[in-house]
Amino acid sequence: MAGLYIHIPFCRKACFYCNFHFSVNQSGLEAMLEAMLLEAETEGPNWQQHEFTSLYLGGGTPSLVSGAAMTEFLDALRRIFRFAETGEWTLEANPDDVTAERALSWRAAGINRVSLGIQSFSDEELRWMNRAHHAAQSEMALKTLLDTGIHSVNVDLIYGSPLLSDRAWTESLRRVFDSGADHLSAYALTLETDTPYKKLVQQGKYPAPEEETQSRHFDILMNEAAAAGWEQYEISNLCKPGSRARHNSAYWNQEPYLGIGPSAHSFDGERRMWNIADNKIYMEQAARHTWSREIETPEAHTRLNELIMTRIRLLEGLNLEAAEQLFPGFKAQSGHELQRIRERGWAFMEDGFFRLTPEGRHFADAIASSLMLV
Ligand code: SF4
Repeated sequence: MAGLYIHIPFCRKACFYCNFHFSVNQSGLEAMLEAMLLEAETEGPNWQQHEFTSLYLGGGTPSLVSGAAMTEFLDALRRIFRFAETGEWTLEANPDDVTAERALSWRAAGINRVSLGIQSFSDEELRWMNRAHHAAQSEMALKTLLDTGIHSVNVDLIYGSPLLSDRAWTESLRRVFDSGADHLSAYALTLETDTPYKKLVQQGKYPAPEEETQSRHFDILMNEAAAAGWEQYEISNLCKPGSRARHNSAYWNQEPYLGIGPSAHSFDGERRMWNIADNKIYMEQAARHTWSREIETPEAHTRLNELIMTRIRLLEGLNLEAAEQLFPGFKAQSGHELQRIRERGWAFMEDGFFRLTPEGRHFADAIASSLMLV
């Protein structure tokens, strides 16, 4: 079992909060696809023992690639890797790229899940974030995907912005839960380093997100999801029962994955590797058939920290025995902190798993950090 991630590093516009690797100059898109296939061909022999149960086209904006070019690209990947017959094949799309013609071509090419970057249902907020689409396009895109037979749809939303009222956030969530989509990724607006948003806030031109608003929005998220019968299986990921995302779950479960494209990360079960986050240098490397990846073999305490960081955010929680096996002495070392978190009402123990309460989910990352070994 393994996952395959493809990073398409181009976008139409630079959303002001985004620190992913992408370029708004799309002139090299087709050459980039060729370069990525060269990397895939080079990596193919190293991954023949793996059957890929998920494929994820992320970025950047994969929906910028034409239907014909995407079909050709996916056919080429099929010739290189072994894919499970019932695999999850996800493509990230922005609403302004979704047409019936394109959705039908994605489906014919094997895509069975689309992750739609809606982010907000307010035109004012979309403009504020420098998004390329309008709110009306989101509704249309969702309907088009479902009508063309792509029944598994994730919606990305952002909460906690100074422009988003509690009422508008509640309405946005209800819209998603009633839309026919089966998955929601909801992220708090954050000030990432090297983003236009951070600069604008530092210059006093834009307001920063407020913790209080974000906390209220997070409560609304949990309450609305519970009322709709959706499962919050990870702090930022919710779904209809039975519709958890397989690809992301594989990351959280430390399964191997291969990343192709500039900035893409890979994990072969022992080593972590990542490609250069620079389109031009990546293309030059492809022309030489030589990729200089950064490689790191995490030590036991780093692997434990990764386990804590990912599992604390999951509904199932952290299996303390698994943590102990990975790093003998963990339970003795962290016993006091585990107890303190439980006493504050932020977590409880069930079947050997340390699980967060709804209140504790507000502080998931801080709790994970407090348990990590330095
Ligand atoms: S949020 Fe998505 S569409 Fe916007 S710049 Fe980042 S990768 Fe591109």
